[in-house]
Amino acid sequence: MDYISTRGTAPALDFEQVTLTGLAADGGLYLPREWPRFTPEQIGAMRGLPYAELAVRVMLPFVGDSLTEDKLRDIATRAYGRFGHKAVTPLVQLDEQHWLLELFHGPTLAFKDVALQLLGRLFEEFLQRHEGRLTIVGATSGDTGSAAIDAVAGRDNVEIFMLHPHGRVSDVQRRQMTTVLAPNVHNIAIDGSFDDAQAMVKRMFGDRQINGPLRLGAVNSINWARLMAQVVYYFYAALQLGAPEREVAFSVPTGNFGDVFAGHVAERMGLPIARLIVATNVNDILHRAFSAGDYSAGLVTATAAPSMDIQVSSNFERLLFDCGGRDGTLLAEQMRSFEHSGAMRLTEAQIAGAARGFASCRADEIEMAQAMAWAKDRCDELIDPHTAIGLHAALASALPAHVPVVTLATAHPAKFRDAVERATGQRPSLPTRLGDLFQREERYTELPGTYEAVTGYVLRHARPHG
Ligand SMILES: *Cc1c(COP(=O)(O)O)cnc(C)c1O
Repeated sequence: MDYISTRGTAPALDFEQVTLTGLAADGGLYLPREWPRFTPEQIGAMRGLPYAELAVRVMLPFVGDSLTEDKLRDIATRAYGRFGHKAVTPLVQLDEQHWLLELFHGPTLAFKDVALQLLGRLFEEFLQRHEGRLTIVGATSGDTGSAAIDAVAGRDNVEIFMLHPHGRVSDVQRRQMTTVLAPNVHNIAIDGSFDDAQAMVKRMFGDRQINGPLRLGAVNSINWARLMAQVVYYFYAALQLGAPEREVAFSVPTGNFGDVFAGHVAERMGLPIARLIVATNVNDILHRAFSAGDYSAGLVTATAAPSMDIQVSSNFERLLFDCGGRDGTLLAEQMRSFEHSGAMRLTEAQIAGAARGFASCRADEIEMAQAMAWAKDRCDELIDPHTAIGLHAALASALPAHVPVVTLATAHPAKFRDAVERATGQRPSLPTRLGDLFQREERYTELPGTYEAVTGYVLRHARPHG
């Protein structure tokens, strides 16, 4: 299997290279050259497999010659062995039609662990082969940071620099990053938004002053391997609800469009998905794109669901490429114009392609709180603000009663205790495996939100890859 860039000019790479590279040299994102496809019989035969084994079946076609099946099984087994629930991502029924897929049983309590526990071990495997070193630069709206840090802390061939928007992540989110004191972990709080941080990270990949002396790696969902890992739980949930004989819909709390794009990949691979519902908060660029063809960035508004406080959704580029005829030249042109003006016009083919499998819905702060209260009062479930946005969209979706609707529960409610308590009157307790998070020492550096300040810091503190 080889991988091509959405902007058409970067060299094709194999799975190992694409995992270590992150962003393509032409600024684009990598995608498999074609989608592997399972027959309904092959999908039916996956029913009942343990999670790690299902992960091997779903991911193997993407891995090509980069890993043997046994090596992939070993990596998946170790990655998912760290989850706090035997089912890894258990499915919970809310009422006749609605379900929650709990993706938050990993070490840092958000769905990012599902991909990053795997990615950390892939980095280790591939770097060992060449005795190489990798410098990870990442931007986080809260959850990627802690999940990535957990996945690589203490590994000596990886160094990680994680940028978060100062004061805009929850206290649990911040402490999960800043209390990891391993010498290869560098937390940076920047003055600015997640979008500012993400733009700086992308710029570093194209900057020879940095991505020359250092070999940069990506843990954001620009990294293909992350999306690949997330495809698995769409299969896991749908199989339990009757796939491939029955169609299932998913409602996905969306920020950077990585998680819901993984659902699109599952659909391309043959999983019968009735609809993918893109659920956004008031930072609704994607809802405007899907409902009105208007892809134009506004200002970021801080909400109680900070991991979705995003205006520029990197992975939307992958969908436009895949739905719009896979024309790299066209996309490079569109993205240049977007980066310049903050707005872009979608082509007819892109609009039609996106409209086929997707719907979208926006929840404001009141609707989000109402969804948390609904889950508590009607189903005795505490859900986090991100999941609540997904649930609001699921309940509003008006799908026929025979279509099960699965809301992805992307974070544990304890990660956002204040917001959950405000909406439900109940304060979720921290799982015991977080232990003494609030007593531990924190370490992080505050920097102005300028490219020079951040890159200067990275160059001073990173070890060259030699
Ligand atoms: C990252 C995150 C999201 C958004 O996921 P994307 O893949 O960026 O769309 C939603 N909810 C939570 C809790 C997250 O951490």
